[in-house]
Amino acid sequence: MCGIVGVTGNENATDILLDGLQQLEYRGYDSAGIYVNDQQGDGFLVKEKGRIADLRALVGPEVKGSTGIGHTRWATHGVPSVKNAHPHVSADGRFFLVHNGVIGNFSQLRDEYLADVELKSDTDTEIIVQLIGKFADEGMDTLAAFRKVLGLVDESSSYAFLLMDKEQPSKLFVAKNKSPLLLGVGDGFNVVCSDATAMLEQTHDFIELMDGEVVVVEPDKIQIMDPAGNAVEREPFHIDMDPQAAKKGAYPYYMLKEIDEQPGVMRTLIQEYFNEDGTVKIDQELLDALSKSDRLYIVAAGTSYHAGLVGKELFEKLAHIPTEVHVASEFAYNPPLLSEKPFFIFLTQSGETADSRQVLTQVNEWGYPSLTITNVANSTLSREATYTLLLHAGPEIAVA
Ligand code: GLU
Repeated sequence: MCGIVGVTGNENATDILLDGLQQLEYRGYDSAGIYVNDQQGDGFLVKEKGRIADLRALVGPEVKGSTGIGHTRWATHGVPSVKNAHPHVSADGRFFLVHNGVIGNFSQLRDEYLADVELKSDTDTEIIVQLIGKFADEGMDTLAAFRKVLGLVDESSSYAFLLMDKEQPSKLFVAKNKSPLLLGVGDGFNVVCSDATAMLEQTHDFIELMDGEVVVVEPDKIQIMDPAGNAVEREPFHIDMDPQAAKKGAYPYYMLKEIDEQPGVMRTLIQEYFNEDGTVKIDQELLDALSKSDRLYIVAAGTSYHAGLVGKELFEKLAHIPTEVHVASEFAYNPPLLSEKPFFIFLTQSGETADSRQVLTQVNEWGYPSLTITNVANSTLSREATYTLLLHAGPEIAVA
């Protein structure tokens, strides 16, 4: 997991990127970087090992521009270091790329196409930007080179990519597959982010992206294309969340703030899901679907998995429905034997957990009903499950 942000058409690009990355630090924080272009021929690349505060300390007043991309990394290929931090750059210095995900066949691509290129990092990501540079060098336009490389990446890969081309510095070239990415519509500018909380200071209007789509984002224009290259029209949706709720306020750490918020969150939940007489206030269709099922499968990762274990106790003791809890990453590769009428419950704070999403995609193919319990309305797992219940816990930023 990692966080990526992009902006085009806003003179405060540097601050927007750094503030956005700060909000995404919960997604990864071993190194970070930004690339900003001033549209007058100058571009600035700054990368640092460590957290966003370390990167911020390196960014001087000269780093100004209206278009840029940024990344906070959680390494999968290559140790945390400046050379492995994103953005990665093509050999000729023309293309800049940030990436969230893993390129499954990067070593084959490197061996087949890049034997003569001197690589600067140990990452899978650099292979992609070097390939784009190579195909552009051979005469392809940027979009065609980008699409060609996306076509070479194998099925197992996951990516959210933001690409910049020094020769068209006001454009962001965007693509996603399995990794989360949202477009945000600003007033005279546009943004891209892994998670809406990163850009709530800039906009509340976001456009979802589907796997396989490719997008060209300009200050006043967003052009979405399906995998075959056809134009896609999609209206923005509104996220009604107070950007201040995602700030630390007077607390020294997000963790302290979020622990202190728990009693308030419990009150909100009781109000939201119970009537005054103690009866439940939950969509009857969902309750019927749950009680019709002969077995519940809770799918989650990390802390949500442990919450799922508590849920199992309660479902079995109080509702007498047999319940299994599965770690999402295991389920995807090793699905259990299913009962006749399974019902799936996905627990995911962000609603974007990649492993859980992979299971949900499979569950939808099988045609079984599902519920996502999440903190983020309109998140991917919320949209793709049959039902959603919101946690109303406010943005969760802390990582233990
Ligand atoms: N695979 C890439 C790397 O190791 C991206 C990791 C991430 O999503 O942060 O650099």
